[in-house]
Amino acid sequence: MAKKKTPRAKPKAPKTDRRPARTAMTPERAAKILDILESAHPEAECALRHENAFQLVVATILSAQCTDQRVNLVTPALFARYPTPAVLAEAQLTELEELVRSTGFFRSKAKSLNGCARALVADHGGQVPKTIAAMIRLPGVGRKTANVVLGHAYGIAEGVAVDTHVLRVTNRLALAAGDDPIEVEKQLMALVPRRRWTRTTDLLIFHGRKICDARRPACGRCPLFSLCPWDSKQAFAMQTR
Ligand code: SF4
Repeated sequence: MAKKKTPRAKPKAPKTDRRPARTAMTPERAAKILDILESAHPEAECALRHENAFQLVVATILSAQCTDQRVNLVTPALFARYPTPAVLAEAQLTELEELVRSTGFFRSKAKSLNGCARALVADHGGQVPKTIAAMIRLPGVGRKTANVVLGHAYGIAEGVAVDTHVLRVTNRLALAAGDDPIEVEKQLMALVPRRRWTRTTDLLIFHGRKICDARRPACGRCPLFSLCPWDSKQAFAMQTR
């Protein structure tokens, strides 16, 4: 009788994402890491397709707990149906929910999109504001979304957008410490010059997606290997050379 195969255990995310105390967080080290990332990933950019600030706000709200690829599949029809904040502000929620359903959490996202559009019309003349203080007062918009939109749509850097990739990669690289996006953003802002803030997010997200994966980081082919103090890098390098 054939021997029954034991199902392989799903790999667990490494637990030791903490920064070793001995690694210094200095602007010089941060600059070196960003320079290497810039050389390794010149194509890194905001992956959400958009033509203006309004579309980027919409796409970024939809990207919560969803891949950018999925958002990019949904937004063409959405932007065609609701081309301006004024039209989106008048949307029927049920119709809007159907259009964004596949991005997950569709009821709350539809509510945020509609609320955000209403606020843009009521308080900003239908324009996306250009300050983070005004942005984060919009329904559904937090610091991450505000930083993404200000940086990419307007070229304004008021902070560093911190998502799950940025959190993970900065902790492993000892560029920041902690799980709180607001705290990590503050640490990055202190470490990196303002002119690089928007690019910092793009590079770290791209690196997190392509190399420094949550469960199986490809440490063996990582251009930052020699600068990375993460305890588990050797073990993962053996698997990914
Ligand atoms: S060496 Fe590994 S853990 Fe460190 S940044 Fe590269 S992929 Fe991430």
